Amino acid sequence: MISDQEDIKVQSVSPLYETAPLGGPKQGPFLNACALLETALLPEELLEKMQEIENALGRVREERWGPRLIDLDILTYEGSLINTPTLELPHPRLAERDFVLIPLFDIAPELFISGINKTVHTILLNRDPSPDVKLYMPSGWHEQS
Ligand code: ATP
Ligand code: CA
Ligand code: CA
Repeated sequence: MISDQEDIKVQSVSPLYETAPLGGPKQGPFLNACALLETALLPEELLEKMQEIENALGRVREERWGPRLIDLDILTYEGSLINTPTLELPHPRLAERDFVLIPLFDIAPELFISGINKTVHTILLNRDPSPDVKLYMPSGWHEQS
């Protein structure tokens, strides 16, 4: 659905990982992936598009960090530092989440995260590989056969 948007080009998509839930209520595992997008949309416009897709897929906003059909977050937008009630960039919990860093490393290891002022690669250095983030499907999983 993201690649169907006229004003967004999907440059790459990571493998899909299965992740044990972190926090929130008792719930089943999540599937996580990262994508690199090229767009002329502004960050707020991109967020709006992502929320339209979540809504079109039938996401109902219930308990925060609870089970959901889909969750599309913007992790970074070039060097933008944004802190408004509706949008924070880079995503404030990015650096503490292996389920974000591991797929992000697959597609953009040297991506510089402003604010944290480190690359994805450097953030992951000196961390033990997380046993809770397991490869679920290799890259190409999103392409229709
Ligand atoms: P988390 O932010 O910890 O990943 P979440 O994704 O479950 O939690 P949601 O309920 O999906 O949280 O989103 C809550 C609000 O977060 C959204 O309505 C949106 O306005 C806001 N938000 C702030 N920064 C971002 C961002 N970088 N990407 C997506 N949503 C964001
Ligand atoms: Ca999220
Ligand atoms: Ca979200």
